[in-house]
Parts: sequence; structure tokens; C-alpha cells
Amino acid sequence: MRNIAIIGAGAAGLFAAKMLSADTSLRITVFEKAQKVGTKLRASGGGRANLMNTQIAGSCYNQPDFINNLLKTVDYEVIKTEFEKMGLRLSADEEGRVYPATLFSQTVIDVLLQNLGENVQIITDYEVKKLQKSTEKWQINDGKTLYDAVLLSSGSPAGMIAKNRQNYNGYLSDLKIKQKKLSASLVGFKLENYPKELSGCRARAAVTLLQNGKAVYSEAGEVMFKDDGISGIVVLNVSAYYNRLKTKENCSLSLSFLFDDESLDVSAHLKKFGDLSGLLHPKLNRLYQKKTFDLRNFQMKISGVYDLEFAQVCHGGIALSELDDSFGLCRHPGLYAVGEMLDIDGVCGGYNLFFAFASAYQAAKSILQKKVRRR
Ligand SMILES: Cc1cc2nc3c(=O)[nH]c(=O)nc-3n(C[C@H](O)[C@H](O)[C@H](O)COP(=O)(O)OP(=O)(O)OC[C@H]3O[C@@H](n4cnc5c(N)ncnc54)[C@H](O)[C@@H]3O)c2cc1C
Repeated sequence: MRNIAIIGAGAAGLFAAKMLSADTSLRITVFEKAQKVGTKLRASGGGRANLMNTQIAGSCYNQPDFINNLLKTVDYEVIKTEFEKMGLRLSADEEGRVYPATLFSQTVIDVLLQNLGENVQIITDYEVKKLQKSTEKWQINDGKTLYDAVLLSSGSPAGMIAKNRQNYNGYLSDLKIKQKKLSASLVGFKLENYPKELSGCRARAAVTLLQNGKAVYSEAGEVMFKDDGISGIVVLNVSAYYNRLKTKENCSLSLSFLFDDESLDVSAHLKKFGDLSGLLHPKLNRLYQKKTFDLRNFQMKISGVYDLEFAQVCHGGIALSELDDSFGLCRHPGLYAVGEMLDIDGVCGGYNLFFAFASAYQAAKSILQKKVRRR
């Protein structure tokens, strides 16, 4: 009987527990600090959980080579098959975003829990504060049980209020694991000279990230105007590319409200109709009447991004140089780290949950094969 611990019952931890429970010679204990499991998975995709994408590619992540390497062994089909084996029906929309067919995230949590074997125990309301080596095994919070392998799947503080973020993943500090500084990703932008009167407006626009006047990344879609900045899926994706910049100096956003109509002549339209009420949201139209601006290049300087509380994921986390191909921590045999606590972040569209499942799958496979790494 080998004892395995999993720290964190989120998407990655629950998926790994399901995979590991296939081996009845393992005794698996999942420690979860919250009262309920799967909190972020439940909140994902506005309660629908965009689980994956049929078009998973390295280019959708901050570390393309690492992901492309992972995809050689664990791709969309592998994870899809695992879910289908659990009895979860999936459905993909026309843009390749994959959801549970029920369009209800709780279904995924229920299915994962239903498929756990009797060799899995989940202990909720239990925070792991200390993880230390003891006679070639691992001990949690001075507990009596020694674990042959421990899977770290405790996520990131993205989406949490400041109080709950304090000392997040603090148990890593004694292990001296190299971590890349965390910052909010998939998050809205705060902008200088932002016209507050646009608050509440939604408009389709191409959003281009500029640094020193040069285009870094551009994407078109629905933009939501808030009190002091902008949000919406397209903006969240732009934030992922903003995070990847070495410095954040001289960055601005350019919005084109006419990106899908190159030939439209604004002056001719104004001459014919008197105003732009047939072209623009009334709030944008009023702003234009107050002070004309370029509808194809409405530029605002970036003053920062919204707080981590409003972010879907974190950029940064455990450095990939700490990992082997099976998500084992090279300097700590028996420890594995998966999911959002790693320095991997993807854009919107199911890429982050896919990574949580795929990394959990790979690590679980390695534990099942009883691979012992020694250095
Ligand atoms: C609002 C929102 C919407 C999102 N929508 C999508 C989407 O539609 N598609 C997508 O791909 N991604 C989405 N994401 C991102 C996605 O949810 C995460 O990337 C994913 O859930 C990460 O899974 P994880 O298992 O690594 O971490 P988590 O799901 O965060 O799980 C970590 C678990 O560990 C527990 N834990 C932490 N520390 C300890 C400790 N010391 N001891 C014990 N337990 C601990 C936590 O309580 C938590 O339950 C969204 C995120 C947010 C916030």
C-alpha cells in the first residue's frame, strides 16, 4: 500500500485523484483548505465551465514549447476520452470551446467525485501549511502518515479577495522552490484619461496593445466599458500578452470600432445622417459629439490592470526549470506540481482548465507507473 497525498481539490487535484484511484493499491488523501471542493472550476466560464478547446496549441500559452511538448503525449483527445469514460457528455461550440453538455459546471465536479474509488479520502477545511521530508517520504503538517508521493495542486490566488490571498502556497517556501513573481492575467485594464461616461457601454472593437507605438497583439470582440477601464474576453486575452512584455513602459491600447468595415467613410456618413447614432452605441456617439476622435484608432494609455481579485488566472508561479517531463519536482523526488500553481497561463477559451487536467493526467500516470526519480 502506497500513500499518496494531493494538496488542493480543484480541477487538477480532483482529476488526478480520479486517475490515481484506478490503482487500488494506492491510498489517496486529498487535502482541501476550503469547505467545498472545486470552487474555481464551479465559477469557471460563468458557471458553465469552458473545460477545453478542440484547437489546443502551444501558441495559446505563455510557454509554447513546454505545452507543445506536453501535447505530444496528452492532447485534447486524451482528456476528452477520460471525461467520456467518466460518463460526462461534452459539447463544443463553433469556435472550438468545449463545455459539459449540461452547460453546468457542477456536473463536472459531480462526475469527478462519482468516479473516485473507495481508496480516495477527501478532507475539506484542512489547510496544508507545512510539507517536509521525513525518511525519504513526505510529511504534511506534522501528521503521522508519511506519503510516498505528494501532488501539489493548490492553484493560484487569482480571483480571490486580498484577505484570502495572504501567504498563498506558503508551504512551498521551506522547499526553496524557484517561483516566478505572480501577476494578474486574464484581467481588465485601467486606463489614463479614461472617459468615465462610457461606463456601462458595450461595443464591438478590435483592441490592439501598443508599446512605444508598435503593435504587440491585436484581437477583435466585445469590449465592456467599466468605471475606470475596460474588460471583456478580448481585453482579457490582450492582458495575457501584456504580462509577457519584459517592461510595462509606454503601453497603450488602441480601439477600432470600425475594424470590420474598412470602406466606411465616417465624414460621408456624418454628412448624410447628421450624427453617428446608427453606427455607435449612444454613449460612444455622445462622446464623439463632445470631442471627435479617430474611430479606427481610439488610444488610451495603460495605467495598470485590475486587482488579482478580478483576474481569472495568475501569470507566474513555480518555474518550469524545477520540473521534469512528468511534472515531478526535480530537486524533490516524490513531489509533483500541476495546474495553475505552475508558471503556465493560457488565453480564454478553455486553455487553463485543459492545462490543469493535462498536467494532472501526466503526473498521475507517472505516479501510477511508480517512477522514482533520484538525483
Ligand atoms: C471567474 C473565473 C472563470 C474562469 N473561467 C475559466 C474557463 O471557463 N475556462 C478555463 O479554462 N479556465 C477558466 N478559469 C481558470 C481556471 O478556473 C483555473 O485555471 C483552474 O481552475 C485551475 O485549476 P487548479 O486545480 O490548478 O487550481 P484551483 O482550481 O484553484 O484549485 C486549487 C485548490 O487548492 C486549494 N488549496 C490552496 N491552498 C491550499 C492549501 N495550502 N491546503 C489545502 N488546499 C489548498 C484551494 O482552495 C483550491 O480548491 C477561470 C477562473 C476564474 C477565477
